[in-house]
Amino acid sequence: MENHNEKHCLVCQRDEQTVPLVRVDFKGNEYWICPQHIPVLIHDPQKLEGMLPGAENMQAG
Ligand SMILES: [Zn+2]
Repeated sequence: MENHNEKHCLVCQRDEQTVPLVRVDFKGNEYWICPQHIPVLIHDPQKLEGMLPGAENMQAG
């Protein structure tokens, strides 16, 4: 993850030209995730460790 200014999915890196992206606000930062990976964010946020800083401390909903 080098560039947070570009909109692309946290997980698969696809951009908004390819898939619809949903904004994720987290710890004052702005991230984007595609519908395919929203379930990961909801059910298995620990998998985002390394992609979303602090995600390892999130609890699955
Ligand atoms: Zn994705």
